[in-house]
Amino acid sequence: MLAFAEPVPITGDIVRHAGIIGWAARNSAKPGRSGPEAWVIQATPDWSTTHLEDSIDSVAERLHAALADQADRPLPTPIYRTAHRWRYARATATDRGALWNAGMRLGAAGDWLLAPRIESAWLSGRLLADQMLAG
Ligand SMILES: Cc1cc2nc3c(=O)[nH]c(=O)nc-3n(C[C@H](O)[C@H](O)[C@H](O)COP(=O)(O)OP(=O)(O)OC[C@H]3O[C@@H](n4cnc5c(N)ncnc54)[C@H](O)[C@@H]3O)c2cc1C
Repeated sequence: MLAFAEPVPITGDIVRHAGIIGWAARNSAKPGRSGPEAWVIQATPDWSTTHLEDSIDSVAERLHAALADQADRPLPTPIYRTAHRWRYARATATDRGALWNAGMRLGAAGDWLLAPRIESAWLSGRLLADQMLAG
């Protein structure tokens, strides 16, 4: 995560699939947010796996540089910079949607059955409910 005292010269509020960046967002642009210009940058799963044991400073430096590559002009100096290793944050998705055993009346739902997003958790719950209501 990087925070700046002034806006970062990047067109748009989201960066996807750009070098080692899997996804990055201008967090301060989300509705209802106040505070300084702030970016959350997630590395790609491949890069994260390769650099799992790297230091916080090294990871922050690399992702900072990757974000700078997306800017129209040099980035301002950050007022805050850190990195966090969320080792188990991103579920490897399947396309199964939901699991339901009608005989046992036992089901499971979650993002891991579709895609690693909150929307998928919700959709998976809906799919499970549909299957339960159908018997
Ligand atoms: C740091 C971070 C940032 C994220 N940002 C975003 C974002 O900006 N947008 C987005 O769409 N998604 C985001 N996600 C992903 C999103 O949080 C998940 O996709 C979503 O929470 C998955 O919901 P879920 O109900 O499948 O699982 P979870 O939210 O993980 O819920 C599972 C629940 O089961 C409980 N549990 C586990 N084991 C047991 C047990 N044995 N007994 C009882 N309870 C148990 C857990 O405590 C937990 O409450 C983010 C995830 C992380 C980690």
